Amino acid sequence: MTLTTPTGFGEVQSAPAPNLIDPFGRHVSYLRVSVTDRCDFRCVYCMSEHMSFLPKKDLLTLEELDRLCSAFVAKGVRKLRITGGEPLVRKNIISLFKSLSRHRESGRLDELTLTTNGSQLEKYAIDLKASGVERINVSIDTLDPHKFKTITRWGDLTTVLKGVEAAKRAGIGIKINAVALKGVNEDEIDDLIRFAHGEGHDLTLIETMPLGDIEGDRTDQYLPLSIVRARLLDRWTLEDIPFRTGGPARYVRIKETGGRLGFITPMTHNFCESCNRVRVTCTGTLYMCLGQEDAADLRAPLRASPENGLLFEAIDAAIARKPKGHDFVIDRRQQKPAVARHMSVTGG
Ligand code: SAM
Repeated sequence: MTLTTPTGFGEVQSAPAPNLIDPFGRHVSYLRVSVTDRCDFRCVYCMSEHMSFLPKKDLLTLEELDRLCSAFVAKGVRKLRITGGEPLVRKNIISLFKSLSRHRESGRLDELTLTTNGSQLEKYAIDLKASGVERINVSIDTLDPHKFKTITRWGDLTTVLKGVEAAKRAGIGIKINAVALKGVNEDEIDDLIRFAHGEGHDLTLIETMPLGDIEGDRTDQYLPLSIVRARLLDRWTLEDIPFRTGGPARYVRIKETGGRLGFITPMTHNFCESCNRVRVTCTGTLYMCLGQEDAADLRAPLRASPENGLLFEAIDAAIARKPKGHDFVIDRRQQKPAVARHMSVTGG
């Protein structure tokens, strides 16, 4: 399917202001868009096993998602990450990538990328590459097939690894993302490093964040990366490097492997002062901060007019109240998540 784009629809219509600058002088140049809240996995730290998902009618259509992304591109966004839920389970998702690739070709977009659990990658790797996707993030928390099943509840490691191979064959750069989980994969970090770097992939470790109700207790899972890093120093030589991908990870090079290792530390050290991103859900709700509740509805202005004027106004008004940062806390006295919505809603 190709996206139907009526006259002016989905095109980069001229925007009133070239840049999105928030009240703290930060330039918003990175948009993460969740195209579905559904997922074919049920990772224990992300979702409860019995999730209720949004009715399909509430979702933005692919055409609307295209128009929304294009509006942000017109406003100066240079990096677009498609996420979810699991983005590759959305029907006809490749048509969205194909359509958005025009912004790569025109030079308005530096990067079109996605975050995926890898379950559908084998099927889509070639199409993604053909749509201008040069790098992707694949979430793999463990290389032990049984543990993988336990963490993801529904996932199959072999399928995911085949997907990663297919993406590599297609010429897509790969970053493996692993959430560091106490007592679950903390003894496997070395294996993840050897695997990722052995295959020529980057690896990034992520601290678990208090988002959405899950069945377990997050204090049991939370593993500060300051501890992981200190432990790694016993076996590896970590060299700080200035490498950045436009996201929150801070990187080191591991001398012994020559590969890059990133740390995303929203809990022990947030990087809100340099935050350059906002997130849109699959229903068109714009969240200016992953860790705050304030949001702006973009679906109403999007649907109110085929012109982008109202949409641009709504985006400007929202960016003008982007908060300074989040204040995540995980401790036993605070049983409720800091933010009620799941990562799969906002788009991780
Ligand atoms: N389905 C895709 C995937 O698996 O990568 C994209 C969406 S998923 C929500 C994006 C990332 O968020 C994954 O790497 C996942 O491990 C991470 N994630 C989910 N819940 C999290 C939480 N509470 N804390 C930290 N990371 C989380």
